[in-house]
Amino acid sequence: MTRVVRVGDAVIGGGSPVVVQSMTNTDTADVRATVDQIRRLQAAGCELVRVAVPDLAAAQAIREIKGEVMVPLVADIHYDHRLALAALEAGADKLRLNPGNIRDPKHIQEVARAAGDRGVPIRVGVNAGSVDGRFRGSQGEITPDGLVDAVLWEVDLLETAGFRDVVVAIKAHDVPLTVEANRLLCQEGNWPIHLGVTEAGTEWEGAIRSAVGIGILLAAGIGDTLRVSLAGDPVREVEAAWEILAALGLRQRGPSYVVCPTCGRTGIDVPGIAAEVKRRLSPIVQPLSIAIMGCPVNGLGEAERADFAVVGGKGFGTLYAHGKVVRPKVAEEQVVAEFAALVRQEVGEHA
Ligand code: SF4
Repeated sequence: MTRVVRVGDAVIGGGSPVVVQSMTNTDTADVRATVDQIRRLQAAGCELVRVAVPDLAAAQAIREIKGEVMVPLVADIHYDHRLALAALEAGADKLRLNPGNIRDPKHIQEVARAAGDRGVPIRVGVNAGSVDGRFRGSQGEITPDGLVDAVLWEVDLLETAGFRDVVVAIKAHDVPLTVEANRLLCQEGNWPIHLGVTEAGTEWEGAIRSAVGIGILLAAGIGDTLRVSLAGDPVREVEAAWEILAALGLRQRGPSYVVCPTCGRTGIDVPGIAAEVKRRLSPIVQPLSIAIMGCPVNGLGEAERADFAVVGGKGFGTLYAHGKVVRPKVAEEQVVAEFAALVRQEVGEHA
């Protein structure tokens, strides 16, 4: 079992539920834009938000941002350890340091002491894209062992400085490399592990790559927090993270959908109905199972198991609640409105 690290009111490790995090893509010094994005992330279920700290203005903006949001903030630091000190000064709840570009042991230990004084944890985050040459093979190749060594090098510096609140991460674009490196890493100590497949791509391929890499590790019991990296709106990262956790039965937030792939028997517009139902029910955070099926073949069985279901006939839908038919024949064009109203009414104040 990994040790527990607290980040504001979030608990990472020690068997706690896997924490969902994301990263803003606004200019951190633009407080208004960053706060707006953090609020959208939080509304989507993000439990920890990282902000880039490329300069002093960004570090100092953390103070003002923190005054306007509830979710703990992680300062993402590269190159200049003084930005880490400034971010701590501004109230960052956690730091992310990259051993690939802050290499002076004195600087790292200075940050460790300052973070330790404030009870602020540090994530040692190694990326294949920026791993130091010392940890590459003789031909410059990146290996799982080298990535692990890069983490261990910095963790050793932190622990030698008496700092214990460490989270570790190894990310690569390459899924097998990410998986293997994390498997090795978890054998080296009991630090909580932050999972991710970095530079994973745009929404479609990025979500798939992340689901495969993160999913393999979570299924093996590895990982205490995760970030899905997608090029685009970070809210989609949070949605993807929850899908991954729900698919593995680890955590669920809001409805989980069973939707048939459609075939020649399909009697209603399953994809259209599913997309619109999903949109209308997106404010619901309580875990529910919803089935939207094109015909009775597999529809009846799924409808019996789901909390709520639509099973298509030719041009109509039969609505189910808790395995029982509640509206036998709703015209197709009314299905979305009636079904969404049925679910909302049943979940009451949670909607
Ligand atoms: S549930 Fe019916 S419509 Fe949907 S894929 Fe299966 S057989 Fe086809």
